[in-house]
Amino acid sequence: MLLGCIADDLTGASDLANNLARSGMRVALRVGVPSGAADEVDAIVVSLKSRTAPVDDAIAESLAAARWLGSQGARQIYFKICSTFDSTPQGNIGPVAEALADLMGARMVAVTPAFPAGGRTVYLGHLFVGTALLSDSPMRSHPLTPMTDANLQRVLQAQLRSSRVGLVDLPTVARGAFALRERLDSLESAGIRFAIVDALEDSHLIALGAAIADMPLVVAASGLGVGLPRAHGFVAGQVGGLPRPSGARAIVSGSCSAASQAQVADFIRRGGLALEVDACATSLDDEVARVSALAQAHLGHVPVLVYSTADAARVSAVQGLFGQAGAAQRIEQMLSRIALALVESGVGQLVVAGGETSGACIQALGLHALGIGPQVDPGVPWCFSDSARLHVCLKSGNFGSEDFFTKAFDLLDQ
Ligand code: ADP
Repeated sequence: MLLGCIADDLTGASDLANNLARSGMRVALRVGVPSGAADEVDAIVVSLKSRTAPVDDAIAESLAAARWLGSQGARQIYFKICSTFDSTPQGNIGPVAEALADLMGARMVAVTPAFPAGGRTVYLGHLFVGTALLSDSPMRSHPLTPMTDANLQRVLQAQLRSSRVGLVDLPTVARGAFALRERLDSLESAGIRFAIVDALEDSHLIALGAAIADMPLVVAASGLGVGLPRAHGFVAGQVGGLPRPSGARAIVSGSCSAASQAQVADFIRRGGLALEVDACATSLDDEVARVSALAQAHLGHVPVLVYSTADAARVSAVQGLFGQAGAAQRIEQMLSRIALALVESGVGQLVVAGGETSGACIQALGLHALGIGPQVDPGVPWCFSDSARLHVCLKSGNFGSEDFFTKAFDLLDQ
């Protein structure tokens, strides 16, 4: 194994695994800190649920994952973060990156959330989501990690304990890998340990991949998964197929991101079968039983959607009742228990929307490893669990076109 990747959530892991596979690497996705021997692959992506975990837990899990990857021969660690830099002033990107840098003895670490195919670009250290600055995008009202500052140097610096943050600006990146590396080296000489790297297009990430191929650690969203394999000599190609799908179809959406709101609305507009969970139900058990029974009664050829997806005002109202973490935990529990009930009653093709929601659902389903198949939209592949004989597609909140749910199942029919 060449590349050991640690993703801070599950949709991020499948997003990165997708880009690495499309760039020619043999990839395995493991859920949670693995034990035992690694698969015969070029890259392993370990998925954690550490994005919003307490900082010390996130650090401990990430270090354990890095140690396991190192013991299996990984020559480089890729800490995969969200392309909208999802974090809070406490972390967890900064503290985890700093702990990994200490472990790996890294004196310079390139950092970029750029993912041009997904509309995430970085210019002069500022993150754009499509045409909007991060702080003007819907991410400003995310239920767990509201992002109100687009200046990544400032955001990352505030999370770091003892390291300084610099910038590799676009004019330098545009001059290619050699200029980029020179700039990273000179920042390192100036005592700077982390460098935000600008990137507007894949060619910039290909240059970055070449510049940092021999560095022990990199912190990036999935975009660099396009640039880095090339630097290691891999050539982009077709991703292998998956087994034939079977079983009923269902969607579980706990994402409240703008894209998911539009996707749920689109599904309903098309006449899809949609069941909303009552986030404020007095009894969690009763609500799980009610929605599961309704969904189970309708399982068949038509996909059933179970959702808690709501707009910012409704999310605030629920958080007002249960607190931010309490609301998240409550809804993740409800949706993951419903997902388990659906799979136990014959769902064989499951789409989950939301990073935290996906982590909760895959944990409830007891899945530890996933194979990567064809991509529905940039950043979102179909995956397959051998042990559960389950096709599963994990969609990060803000990814995917409006007709994503319909499109995902259409792809399996081809
Ligand atoms: P995304 O990928 O869009 O960030 P996540 O699943 O990671 O989606 O995060 C959404 C969070 O919001 C989850 O923790 C989920 O439980 C919580 N949530 C979902 N629906 C609601 C709601 N109606 N009110 C409050 N919180 C919600």
